[in-house]
Amino acid sequence: MRLTVLGYWGGYPEAGEATSAYLLSYGEKHYLLDCGSGAVAQLFKYVRLKDIESCFISHFHFDHSADLGVLQYAYLMNSYQRKSAAHLTIYAPATPEAHRVLYEDVRGSTMQTIQSDAVVSLDDLTVRFLRTRHPVETLAMRFEGKNGESLVYTADTHDFPELIDFARGAEVLLAESSFYADEDGEVARSSGHLRADEAARLAEAAQVERLYLTHLPHRGLHQDLLTEAKKHFGGRVALVHTGMEITW
Ligand SMILES: [Zn+2]
Ligand SMILES: [Zn+2]
Repeated sequence: MRLTVLGYWGGYPEAGEATSAYLLSYGEKHYLLDCGSGAVAQLFKYVRLKDIESCFISHFHFDHSADLGVLQYAYLMNSYQRKSAAHLTIYAPATPEAHRVLYEDVRGSTMQTIQSDAVVSLDDLTVRFLRTRHPVETLAMRFEGKNGESLVYTADTHDFPELIDFARGAEVLLAESSFYADEDGEVARSSGHLRADEAARLAEAAQVERLYLTHLPHRGLHQDLLTEAKKHFGGRVALVHTGMEITW
């Protein structure tokens, strides 16, 4: 498996960068995980439109879905070409309905809503979901390859016990880390986000092999997130950055 970081900022992107978006590659296939602001321009650095058939949207907050509409327009415009074979299936939560319906009925793509207990089998991948604790319906995702490779993406969430079982034994845990360990835990909790120490405790409790911190804040020194995480997780831990390729 290979994960390419297209965007990692929480909320809004810094100049020339993107918010949450990751390209998962397995075998000959590529999958887009979230499609935040600036994601499409980053995506086309790595793949062509026809290389992406499936996109998983964790939730309809703009830092995870802002570019989904323009990605659909790319498939729409592609559909005008003779012999076009490009088609996108979007897997996303059912709510908020007012957001979801904006992406339905666009030629070149299909919306498929996902319930928390759904299992999606695609090519050589199995994908499971867990509803997180966040102000809108949000799905954490667990991708497993046919040879046992695994990736868990927390999406946006505050700390809750079921996340440990969901992430259990994952080779790679991509965890949001929106707050620093010394920031008010109640603010993190009420906004539905993890602090760096919580992400690390999750990794430790779930006994994952590697932890990658993402959905990073626009304040403070990101290196401090790493330092804080290392205090609570004994495995490999790193901050993600634009263009980072994680292979396992
Ligand atoms: Zn977010
Ligand atoms: Zn969110």
